[in-house]
Order: sequence, then structure tokens, then C-alpha cells
Amino acid sequence: MAYDPNNIFAKIIRGEAPAFKVYEDAHTIAFMDIMPQAEGHTLVIPKEYAESIFDLSPEAAASLIKATQKVAAAVRTATNAPGIMLAQLNGAAAGQTVFHIHFHIIPRAGGIDLSFHARKMADMEKLKALAAKIAAAVV
Ligand code: 5GP
Repeated sequence: MAYDPNNIFAKIIRGEAPAFKVYEDAHTIAFMDIMPQAEGHTLVIPKEYAESIFDLSPEAAASLIKATQKVAAAVRTATNAPGIMLAQLNGAAAGQTVFHIHFHIIPRAGGIDLSFHARKMADMEKLKALAAKIAAAVV
């Protein structure tokens, strides 16, 4: 499948769609997932247009995992979660719904089940406050 430059994450990269950003550098952007599976669910994307891990250049893959490590640490600090899950889905058969590669950073704690994937919109004020807290924790 050819990369669709009108997917929502490409629009966020180009500034054509809003996002609660927590981190940005020359090669990556991190922002809150608007249908979070847990409080603090954050996404990290490369600015390079690529549908899946198999389409990404090795250089962009390196930048993406570095940013993911950095942002995951900030999510952990900001949420105080004892566990942090990373997920990255390639292809509809794997559950991918937005066809611009991304890492999910999902805080986990014992006894708290994950919400359904991409199902229920978050409260935007809460999401904005969480984004500010995570952004402040990036080192
Ligand atoms: P995937 O299913 O491709 O692994 O994950 C896509 C993720 O993007 C889902 O967790 C979904 O909630 C999130 N998502 C979908 N549309 C938007 C959007 O417009 N803005 C943000 N911030 N997240 C989105």
C-alpha cells in the first residue's frame, strides 16, 4: 500500500491538525493519544513519512527509538506508573489503524486493565494537563 500523506499523523507533522505535544526534535514528535488505553498514553512518530517499520530508513528508526526512550522516561516520571509498555503495530492485521509508523507508550499498574484500542475519546482538558506534566518531565 502506498503511503497516504493525508493520514492524521502526517497532518500533525505538517501542523494541519492539532495535537497535545510533549516533545519534538528535528526528526520526531511525541503527543498524547486522544483515545488513550491508560492515563498518560503517548505516541511517538518520526517526521519521515513511513507506513510501518519496514518502510522506515535505518536513520529515522534510530531517531525514533531514541525519542521513544526519552519520552517513555518522562511518561514514567509524570505518571509514577510502576510499568511502561511499548507497542508498535505494523499492518491492519496487527491492529494498526493509523498508517504512519508510531510507538505507543502506555503506563501500566497492577489491577488496572487497558482500555480498548482507539475506542473512547479522552477529556481534552485532562489530556492537555497531562501533556504539560509529561513535557515538563522530559530531560
Ligand atoms: P494504531 O492502531 O495505528 O497502532 O494506533 C493509532 C493510535 O492513534 C490509536 O491509539 C488512536 O487512539 C490514536 N489516534 C487516532 N486518531 C488520532 C488523532 O487524531 N490524534 C491523536 N493524538 N491520536 C489519534
